[in-house]
Amino acid sequence: VTALPSISCLCGLKVSVLVSAVLADSTSFFCFWIWEEVSGYDENMNTIRTYQVCNIFNSSQNNWVRTKYIRRRGAQRIHVQMKFSVRDCSSIPNVPGSCKETFNLYFFESDLDKATKLYPPWMENPWVKVDTIAADESFSQVDLGGRIMKINSEVRSFGPVSHNGFYLAFQDYGACMSLIAVRVFYRKCPHIIQNGAVFPETLSGAESTSLVAARGVCVPNGEEVDVPIKLYCNGDGEWMVPIGRCMCKAGYEAVANGTVCKACVTGFFKAAQGDHKCLQCPINSRTTSEGATNCVCRNGYYRTESDPPQMPCTSICSISVPSAPQNVISIVNETSLILEWSPPKESGGREDVVYNIICKSCGSGRSGCTRCGDNVQFIPRQLGLTNTRVHISDLMAHTQYTFEIQAVNGVSDQSPYSPQYTSVNITTNQAAPSIVSIIHQVSRTPNSITLSWSQPDQPNGSPQDLPDLKSLVCVIQNQAEWNSSLTRSQTNTAVIRGLRPGTIYVFQVRARTVAGFGRFSGKILISYPLMDLHADFFVFVSSKRNSDRPESEYTDKLQHYTSGHMSPGMKIYIDPFTYEDPNEAVREFAKEIDISCVKIEQVIGAGEFGEVCSGNLRQPGKREILVAIKTLKAGYTERQRRDFLSEASIMGQFDHPNIIHLEGVVTKSSPVMIITEFMENGSLDSFLRQNDGQFTVIQLVGMLRGIAAGMKYLCDMNYVHRDLAARNILVNSNLVCKVSDFGLSRFLEEDTSDPTYTSALGGKIPIRWTAPEAIQYRKFTSSSDCWSYGIVMWEVMSYGERPYWDMSNQDVINAIEQDYRLPPPMDCPSALHQLMLDCWQKDRNNRPKFSQIVSTLDKMIRNPNSLKAMTPLSSSVHLALLDRSTPDFSSFSTIDEWLDAIKMGQYKENFTSEGFTSFDVVSQMTMEDILRVGVTLAGHQKKILNSIQSMRAQMNQITSVEV
Ligand code: AMP
Repeated sequence: VTALPSISCLCGLKVSVLVSAVLADSTSFFCFWIWEEVSGYDENMNTIRTYQVCNIFNSSQNNWVRTKYIRRRGAQRIHVQMKFSVRDCSSIPNVPGSCKETFNLYFFESDLDKATKLYPPWMENPWVKVDTIAADESFSQVDLGGRIMKINSEVRSFGPVSHNGFYLAFQDYGACMSLIAVRVFYRKCPHIIQNGAVFPETLSGAESTSLVAARGVCVPNGEEVDVPIKLYCNGDGEWMVPIGRCMCKAGYEAVANGTVCKACVTGFFKAAQGDHKCLQCPINSRTTSEGATNCVCRNGYYRTESDPPQMPCTSICSISVPSAPQNVISIVNETSLILEWSPPKESGGREDVVYNIICKSCGSGRSGCTRCGDNVQFIPRQLGLTNTRVHISDLMAHTQYTFEIQAVNGVSDQSPYSPQYTSVNITTNQAAPSIVSIIHQVSRTPNSITLSWSQPDQPNGSPQDLPDLKSLVCVIQNQAEWNSSLTRSQTNTAVIRGLRPGTIYVFQVRARTVAGFGRFSGKILISYPLMDLHADFFVFVSSKRNSDRPESEYTDKLQHYTSGHMSPGMKIYIDPFTYEDPNEAVREFAKEIDISCVKIEQVIGAGEFGEVCSGNLRQPGKREILVAIKTLKAGYTERQRRDFLSEASIMGQFDHPNIIHLEGVVTKSSPVMIITEFMENGSLDSFLRQNDGQFTVIQLVGMLRGIAAGMKYLCDMNYVHRDLAARNILVNSNLVCKVSDFGLSRFLEEDTSDPTYTSALGGKIPIRWTAPEAIQYRKFTSSSDCWSYGIVMWEVMSYGERPYWDMSNQDVINAIEQDYRLPPPMDCPSALHQLMLDCWQKDRNNRPKFSQIVSTLDKMIRNPNSLKAMTPLSSSVHLALLDRSTPDFSSFSTIDEWLDAIKMGQYKENFTSEGFTSFDVVSQMTMEDILRVGVTLAGHQKKILNSIQSMRAQMNQITSVEV
């Protein structure tokens, strides 16, 4: 009996003649014929020994033959292959009905070889029957000499088996048969190396359907990739369902069909785990040992950190930087230009050559050339060009320019040599004027309107042709009746007469010179009402929005455009939502920045639309600067994108040292970003809270002056902020305060997650900062901004205290209605509190203008003595709210409580350890005592000393009453 590869043979046994004799002895009355060991021939006429029984003429046969003890050897399922022949009953003359053509197979488990003639008894139970076995073929010709036989082969299996071993038995119950061979085996999956791992020999499970899991172990220097590597051994001894795999680690490659990970030989390297082969070291590099994961540059040769390891090393000498680009061609078209060139002769031994364009404009005078400004546009970009072509536009007309085309590569930065370049000189021609960016209404009558617009940034005409901009012709288009009517104007204002009530008019302006027409400005849509709605209110609506929303909802959101007093040429803010397409407003007011110029460093805050980060902005021809980067989180809707960018189109219209400066926007890549100057000290409210008591009054007034100057500018631009609050002021490292937060969305959306903004009819309002008329009937004007400014003054002077402390919004509204106002914060000069009270005048017309506030603060700064006087406790002419800055000492039972109330709780332990534990003792403290308890910060000393003085005053009052 030979073993198949996956079959292990327990024993190729021949059945020994032991059972038949026993049977004859013990059960003689059943047994007339017994199993008998006989010699015969198989089909190939080989001599074999068989065990025969043929007692068919006697009924009630029960003849058993049993194997010797078979050790299990860990197998859980046993297979038995039997070779036998059975005589066909019908071929036997006069055969009785009891003649059988089948026999039974049994097994019996035992830990020891303890079978005897009597044990186990010859019967089912204790023996376990495996099956009744029938012959596929029986033989009909009688040849008991055994010369002609047809041999059957059957396999049966059983399990689970768990004892050390077992016996098999064959029961004949009336057949004429011979048992020729029995092979007993179990199945196993062999030791194997598959998917880079070694799997041990694994025996099949107890059932034919069992799957036995085996964990593989990576071959030496292999590493598992993600999941643990496994194979399953099935009932047929076959491996299946491979899971996971191993790969050779860095420095090793797979050989011998993936069964061995071999170290890379000297001069070769493999940088990472994987199936790939070791690579030869790149030029000018070498390995230091076998199994290298990278090749180090030879002395004097270099590779940048970001270079991949297969990159050759180059020497830091002129050879390594590329030579200048060649064959530059320039094609000028009016004020645009196309530059094309061929790659440099020498790439510096690297393949990462890119090009930078340096733009210099050279005036006609002797002043030489200067770097071009930001307004020049480069497509695809100015720096890091991978192609040899660039389109440059928005150049000045009739101007000489020099362009330098530099070739640089990855090591240019490290090279002591400056980049090689080729320069080209060009002169631009005249061109149509640039777009008119701003239009606004100056005044109107019941049937006419006066519009004014900004001059185009670049008239682009020849200086000889166009001595001044008066020769520009502007066109106003009325699209109400589709046959656009054109109005021409030689100045930058026009009166359009004959307007009909109840019509929406669309106005666009474009400039014209002898060189042609410029592009039309964005549209402004003006609804010409049936009746005059409100003396100083004019409604700008866009027709799109008109259909989306009821008019009442947004008429109020729009800015107030009374511009009669406006000086000519002065810019007026344009609400980006008056544009039919707000994206056009973004394009017009915000510069697109290429994402390659932006380097994000860290997250510094959470904005309404996504994270706010700090980072660097390095724009062509400009110094690298720190910037704040507001991002729009992924998954935004088109509306969110528009609202997010609206802040940029508003901010981009402003240019003032106390207004946060917009650097630009990134809209052509994801995420969308708004980039502004970076304000190192963050928002004013938290900055003050962190530096409680640390500034002089003059410093605080300086901050307030800055905010007022920014607000004056906004007011002059006809922009109403509506959310002026310390949280929306940013502070830079020089303590310069700038007004920020020009987003409109929080007023528009019905999200009430931020309790600062309370939903009012049709919008959300920050109650504590908002003027009563704006809360009541949403009259937002620069005068309501003035009220908010008064609250900001209070926030500043109280170092970030919450206005109206923990009062509810409704209590605040009621208190204001009853003429209560916030009291002066601690140490607040009365002049400043008076200014706050002026800002909080009920009648908005009585509130100061921002220009007046700026000059009042300027006077205070020039004359600091005016800030010496403090508000006497009881002298307010108005009704002050309960003044929480000068506590009532009788309400405190301990010094700790008092310190907590004046927000100096951090000194509690110091006071206790120095024995300042009663009001009597504390009220007598001197400056030295205060120093002794460890209060070293001037602001804190002052706060404590002032409170002690009030304490003394109150104690004296109490004493005198008692006397
Ligand atoms: P905002 O969405 O404008 O309210 O910004 C959220 C937070 O980001 C602010 O409260 C600031 O802490 C921070 N932040 C916004 N803009 C700037 C900036 N330009 N410089 C520094 N921090 C900023």
